[in-house]
Amino acid sequence: MNKKKKMNCPYCDGETEEGKLEIHGSWIGWLLVGFSYQNLFYNSFNKKYQEYNTDDEKVIKESETLKAKKCKECGAISFIPGKTIDKGGSVRQIA
Ligand SMILES: [Zn+2]
Repeated sequence: MNKKKKMNCPYCDGETEEGKLEIHGSWIGWLLVGFSYQNLFYNSFNKKYQEYNTDDEKVIKESETLKAKKCKECGAISFIPGKTIDKGGSVRQIA
């Protein structure tokens, strides 16, 4: 039982399972805005000023599918920005 180092959840130390993470534009959003390109952004929290920093860090572009791990216990999802899955073969439609 020592073949590969398993990554446990950073929150509860539970077991994680492999998966993928992607952004789907919604139909409603598309109808209302007409253009549904969405990205997921991360902003770090500045403890000194007790507010979120304004420099957006793009973590997922709508066109990307990232490798992700999800905790079976608490549901936390972890991923590395830019670690995309090769989408060869899978048909992708922008809603
Ligand atoms: Zn967990």
